[in-house]
Amino acid sequence: MNNRLRRIGIILIVVLVVPALLFISFELTSLNSNEKVIEKIYESQLDAILFSVNQYSQDIMESWAGKIEEDITSGNAEANIKKITDENNSIDGVLIGDAANYKILNAYGKASGDNYRINFMDSLIKNNKSIVGRLVGYQQSGFRKLEPVKADSSEAILFFTFNNDKLHDKFCILLVNSEIFIEKVLAPKIKSVSGNEFLIYILSVSKNYSFDNDPVIPVDKIRTRKAMWLLPGFNLGILLQGETIDSMVKQRAITNLALIVILIIVLLFGIYIVFKNVRREIEISQMKSDFVSNVSHELRTPLSMISMFAETLEMGRVRTEEKKQEYYGIISQETARLSRIVNSILNFSRIEAGKRNYNFVDTFLNDIVENVFSSYKVHLAQNGFEAILDKDDSIPVQKLDEEAVSEAFMNLLDNAVKYSKENKKLLVRTGFGNGLSFVEVKDYGIGIPKEDQNKIYEKFFRVGSGLVHNVKGTGLGLSIVKHIVEAHKGIVELESEPGKGSLFRLKFPLRKNKN
Ligand code: ADP
Repeated sequence: MNNRLRRIGIILIVVLVVPALLFISFELTSLNSNEKVIEKIYESQLDAILFSVNQYSQDIMESWAGKIEEDITSGNAEANIKKITDENNSIDGVLIGDAANYKILNAYGKASGDNYRINFMDSLIKNNKSIVGRLVGYQQSGFRKLEPVKADSSEAILFFTFNNDKLHDKFCILLVNSEIFIEKVLAPKIKSVSGNEFLIYILSVSKNYSFDNDPVIPVDKIRTRKAMWLLPGFNLGILLQGETIDSMVKQRAITNLALIVILIIVLLFGIYIVFKNVRREIEISQMKSDFVSNVSHELRTPLSMISMFAETLEMGRVRTEEKKQEYYGIISQETARLSRIVNSILNFSRIEAGKRNYNFVDTFLNDIVENVFSSYKVHLAQNGFEAILDKDDSIPVQKLDEEAVSEAFMNLLDNAVKYSKENKKLLVRTGFGNGLSFVEVKDYGIGIPKEDQNKIYEKFFRVGSGLVHNVKGTGLGLSIVKHIVEAHKGIVELESEPGKGSLFRLKFPLRKNKN
């Protein structure tokens, strides 16, 4: 049986667990890769938003550069440049330098007349000759590029050359107040692109800017950062408003994991149920084959006794009348035993087929018990049993199927005789209480182990299968008893201890049965 079970266990694992685990691992990896694709798309979207903010800053400053170029060539440079710096208060000043000698030629706006600043720019040009040289190269190729030279929280310094041929030996320095530029020029743009979905921040070493009126900037949560093209030293950062993609991914992973765990539990539970049922089926088939051999044995014993004694009588070998009577007695006893076995098998098959009918009529339980007991007394005495009947004569009349209750009671007496050893004592008691009448049979026999006490009512079940006791039986008696008692809406109780004996109690309701 163990081998069969092991084989079924292996088949279950191969057929159910392996595909399920493969499916789960496939699901998990495909989930991960889906999540990665989503994250990639999301990140490139964030990049595009930050790109648009950078592009916008560049467009603004390019437009200033174009304006300055126009103004320088217009005859009234001073007044015109003053106009731009007045209109755009993030422009701190405009300086024109000599590209050949690396010298400041003119200063406009707030820078004009600021000698300290002019001198500082002079030395800045000298320290950044390569940038000027590169810009001149761009100019010769016909395009203008704004090149940031220095930027901090207070000021950004941008070099650019002109597209105009007349200004080929000159270059321009644009001084931009970073803070004003961010707050006045960039803030409205950032607010318009971020909408309700994103939070965009500008971060620098000295000061971080938030554009959603929230003073707390979750710096460590910002995943996508991009340097600002024209304000080096400043970074643009972005994250999703409310839930971040990280927490969404985490949430989904947790939900998926929970679902998978539930799936595994359900699967294991299913396997457990299947396995339990299969084990039960195997046990039943084992019990059935035991049953067949037990029944054959049960039938063979009385048959051989009958034939042996009948033959002896037939051959006229028995001399005394006394002996003859004894042999007749044995033959009729064994015939009764045979018919009991056959009856119990027939009754059982009727129960199994759902065809057993009961005929409930007004009866005294005591009458049934007394009838069976008195006809059984001889058999008990022959087997060396001391049997005591203790009746409660006040048990009221009740609806019982006399034949069925007799059969159940007889089964208990039979078992008490079969499963007693040296201590051949039997107590039968009747009584009533709590709306129930009862008959109990107590023996001092081998008893029933605790773990088997629930199983003995199962069809074909026998304790220890011949190891604990060598008594033959069909394993049907108690299942018939239980069926009979339950048909009366009653209950079977058992108190038993191995080695000390057993007490079976059949309880029947005193109120009228419906059927
Ligand atoms: P069986 O034909 O084997 O007696 P039953 O259904 O009557 O079948 O009983 C089931 C099993 O319960 C028996 O095989 C026996 O092991 C146990 N059993 C029943 N009655 C007693 C008892 N009075 N004392 C000890 N064991 C009992």
